[in-house]
Amino acid sequence: MHPSLLISTAQLRANIQSVRSRIAPSELLFVLKDDAYGHGLRWATETAVAEGVRWLGTFDIPTALAVRRIAGEGPRVLALATSAPDEVAEAIEADVDLGVGSAEYLDVVIAAAKRLHRRVRIHLKVDTGLHRNGFRPESWSDALARAGVFAAGVDVVGVWSHLAEASDAEDDVAAHAFDVALRAVRHAGFTPEVTHLTASAASWARPELRQSLSRIGAFCYGIRSADGPVLPGIEPVATLIAPVIGVEDDVVRIAIGSLDGVPSILRGIEVGTPRGRRMLRAVGLIDSEVASWPGAAVGDRVVVFGPASSGAHSPTTLAESIDTVGEEVVTRLTNRVTRVIDAEEPR
Ligand SMILES: *Cc1c(COP(=O)(O)O)cnc(C)c1O
Repeated sequence: MHPSLLISTAQLRANIQSVRSRIAPSELLFVLKDDAYGHGLRWATETAVAEGVRWLGTFDIPTALAVRRIAGEGPRVLALATSAPDEVAEAIEADVDLGVGSAEYLDVVIAAAKRLHRRVRIHLKVDTGLHRNGFRPESWSDALARAGVFAAGVDVVGVWSHLAEASDAEDDVAAHAFDVALRAVRHAGFTPEVTHLTASAASWARPELRQSLSRIGAFCYGIRSADGPVLPGIEPVATLIAPVIGVEDDVVRIAIGSLDGVPSILRGIEVGTPRGRRMLRAVGLIDSEVASWPGAAVGDRVVVFGPASSGAHSPTTLAESIDTVGEEVVTRLTNRVTRVIDAEEPR
């Protein structure tokens, strides 16, 4: 008896549809980092491609190469983060777009393209305040002027940055810095094919900040922002289930614990049982205690989180009770939890 994470292809497709209709005409770049936010890279990539998503984003190059193999040649695959030189060469050969946010990395990419006699598509990243990689505004014109760029076989197809999405005021300042950087890009004679700035929260709620692409992970997986609004048409894709393994006087024991990635500080939250929500009283290493319900029996299923139809809270609602984000609750789950795609069981 072990816990399982039930994953719904239909729900991912529905969320992708909701996101795309919300952000149009901005196009979705579906973010696949952290093993598709703990849902499984292969399944998420295949589902997105079947849904017609044309842009896929990863953090590192090895994941981008895996996505390219799964997705085939059609979709664009963008590796956002700086990687090692030997990986850059592999990325170029696999037709992967590269995010470039420093002069050093730009040189690495140019050198690799030259060596391979191939053109490479890059997305220049400008730092608009997060200080997390990206050309600083004062080095931006230098980055653009570092022009071997065109001649050296490097096509600047994108310009991008990342927002904190912590407050509208901060995001406005960053968006202004992004506009300034874009003006410099056009002034320098570049016409990027795409620009991208916003992730889930700002793409959804701040249409004026949306660019031609929107890099979205969380909302596609049905994970709303902590302390953020409920999202019409979006529900969690994953449902975490734990079987009942023991029934005592007023306590039911379920087969899930901190070794499965359930933080012990989640004790006190409510989980879904066949008779409605009950309190999760304690989280042990491999099992946990839930307040009992009439007729509780070994083999019953308790839902730790899931969509509204599951009777449990969402991952973000759990996360809010321990001051973290829904992504954290889902991606922390360990390999002890079996991923089950499209289980026949009622959800
Ligand atoms: C994770 C990430 C995203 C997606 O963020 P969500 O809030 O999950 O949509 C977008 N861009 C970058 C650079 C990221 O690291």
